[in-house]
Amino acid sequence: MDFGIKGKKALVCASSKGLGYGCAAALAGEGVDLVINARSSGPLEEAAETLRAAHGVNVVAVAADITTDTGRAQVLDATGGTVDILVTNAGGPPPGMWTDWDRDDFIAAIDANMLTPVALMQALVPGMMERGWGRVVNITSQSVKAPIAVLGLSNTARTGLTGFVAGTSRQVAGAGVTINNLLPGIHATDRAVALDGGVVAAKGITIEEARAERAATIPAGRYGQPEEFGAACAFLCSSHAGFIIGQNILLDGGGVNATF
Ligand code: NAP
Repeated sequence: MDFGIKGKKALVCASSKGLGYGCAAALAGEGVDLVINARSSGPLEEAAETLRAAHGVNVVAVAADITTDTGRAQVLDATGGTVDILVTNAGGPPPGMWTDWDRDDFIAAIDANMLTPVALMQALVPGMMERGWGRVVNITSQSVKAPIAVLGLSNTARTGLTGFVAGTSRQVAGAGVTINNLLPGIHATDRAVALDGGVVAAKGITIEEARAERAATIPAGRYGQPEEFGAACAFLCSSHAGFIIGQNILLDGGGVNATF
């Protein structure tokens, strides 16, 4: 299937590795030029070079913290203001106990995982609407549909973003712009390894045992791969996905046990 987005330009945030990189690679595979971003420049430049070499697309790499005003300004500046496809992403908040979090912890999580995507949409969606075409995909989490107790900061911030998208996506759809959220379940990325490390410490088991335990909770019997996550993202950004508006799409191997 031709996704019909060759020659478009995408900003993919937090994309030197993991799910963001998976999305960037899938879009590059469809001939989309990219602005990619992460805080550490070494891995980011490596990712940019790999994408250029593999797909022959134009890739601009901006090392910046996307959750800060300064970082966002740097990234937006590098796009030249014209972006057809926006994929928002950032690191997730740390796990913990609900009684331990103070106001600063909540503000940091809400800044990173709610207000950052909102600010990026506010900056880029008006231009998409003027041009009559745009795609926004926010990487959120399965915790939006089925809360993960130890990730209360994530549950809180991402649910706020989900509420914003629910209304806003309906306000911009008429101008040819779609906004949807992709909800990852457990995927084989560094983030998953970090969370597995927490289980190792808490239960006194090996990393292999921790992984096997978590994989057994997923009906598909395995962790998801960033490549298959990226492919779903690229489809949502394709010319065929213009009627998909304001959806929260789980990619979780069946992990969330719910009918709807
Ligand atoms: P990952 O493998 O750790 O990759 C995170 C990427 O984001 C890296 O490129 C990292 O590079 C970049 N990054 C992190 N914070 C950033 C910031 N403030 N500004 C710019 N770049 C930043 O993580 P992942 O597994 O792909 O997870 C991506 C998102 O999905 C996270 O929010 C995570 O909570 C969520 N999620 C993941 C899973 C899973 O199983 N993997 C499940 C549910 C939800 P630098 O460190 O160099 O900045």
